[in-house]
Amino acid sequence: MLNHDKNITIRQGHFKSNSWDVQLSQPDIGPGEIEAVTAVLTSGWLSLGPRLGDFEREFAAYTGVKHAIAVNSGTSALDLILKTMDIGPGDMVITTPFSFIASANCILFQDAIPVFVDVDSKTQNIDLDLVEAKIKEIRRNEPDQPKAILGVDVFGRLADWERLEMLAEEYDLKLIEDGCEALGAQNNGRRAGAFGDACAFGFYPNKQITTGEGGMITTDDDRIAERCRCLRNQGRSGSSWLAHSDLGYNYRLSDINCAIGLAQIRRVNEILMKRDYVAEMYGRRLADIPDITLPGEPDTGSRSWFVYVLFLDDPSLERDQVLAELMDHRIQVSNYFPPIHLQPLYRQRFGFREGDFPVTESLARRSVALPFYGNMGWSDVNTVAQALESVFGIVPEPQAVLSLAGEMK
Ligand SMILES: *Cc1c(COP(=O)(O)O)cnc(C)c1O
Repeated sequence: MLNHDKNITIRQGHFKSNSWDVQLSQPDIGPGEIEAVTAVLTSGWLSLGPRLGDFEREFAAYTGVKHAIAVNSGTSALDLILKTMDIGPGDMVITTPFSFIASANCILFQDAIPVFVDVDSKTQNIDLDLVEAKIKEIRRNEPDQPKAILGVDVFGRLADWERLEMLAEEYDLKLIEDGCEALGAQNNGRRAGAFGDACAFGFYPNKQITTGEGGMITTDDDRIAERCRCLRNQGRSGSSWLAHSDLGYNYRLSDINCAIGLAQIRRVNEILMKRDYVAEMYGRRLADIPDITLPGEPDTGSRSWFVYVLFLDDPSLERDQVLAELMDHRIQVSNYFPPIHLQPLYRQRFGFREGDFPVTESLARRSVALPFYGNMGWSDVNTVAQALESVFGIVPEPQAVLSLAGEMK
């Protein structure tokens, strides 16, 4: 049961640890990945080698785009996309406050201004009616127009890209997809990565596929692709190693990382199917717990499972206490996501306050991210479910759990 006297510490991170019976996440690394890394190391060609081009080509083919450009993180991918779109000081970029902080920080990197728009409580993605109202409001009242929309496929569920693309067209805005959480999600035959002018992916170990650290830019636009290749590699654009035409960066991804990514993208269907199955096990095992909303429904198109986040329906329940109690049961959980506009950096710079984006704030106060990774088995799911039941003071129907166990194993 909830114990209200305890100090709450939320221990975080995505590393192997003996503190937990079930970890928040784990990468899905097979023998192929290990072999591939060894092959790069013995080849002596550790960066800008053959694995880079192979990883990019196969990633582009999977996401259904013309170009994929590998970089050293999802954050670098977002940074380069905005830079190649010439988003600069004072430019307004419309985006969501319910996301991982990098999707807004990349706007600050350009000294541009994030214009937050609240989300839809059911999809947790940016609310398109509010986006349209915001664009109209800015056009009426400000001398400048917004320059771009940066949409996020939060928790792996696609934003409404058809409508975003119509808005971008109508109001002449650049459109950026942050698909870092959505590899493999698809709608009407198009996969995450193929929406907007360009998309960013990240390969941190808790993402669907990992390279240790890493990221990817996908685009059909030749100019964006060429500029990103130049900027990730110190502003080099010709064949000469010491000729620099642009102010560039070192955002390169080593061949060691690319080899892991290549092995991962070659078995992405298997990786995603395992995650789908874990989500299904959770959905069925947790279905009878009252007063929580599971992440199963509703969907626009299909989703790619990144995390398993449920919401407490009763806003007076102390969510942080629930997290602390789960951690006492040795279940590693998290509070995805604290609103970006309420982060100290954003409060100080822009004066945001509680109440500015009420839907985001309500979701953020009620969210519980459970352990989620493809190699979870039924017993892990059941351990998490038992801890939840114990925290909520619920006694499950033993016969129902037994028969599910027989079905799912
Ligand atoms: C993970 C993530 C990023 C950043 O990726 P890194 O590789 O960690 O830099 C950006 N946006 C979203 C929504 C993410 O989930």
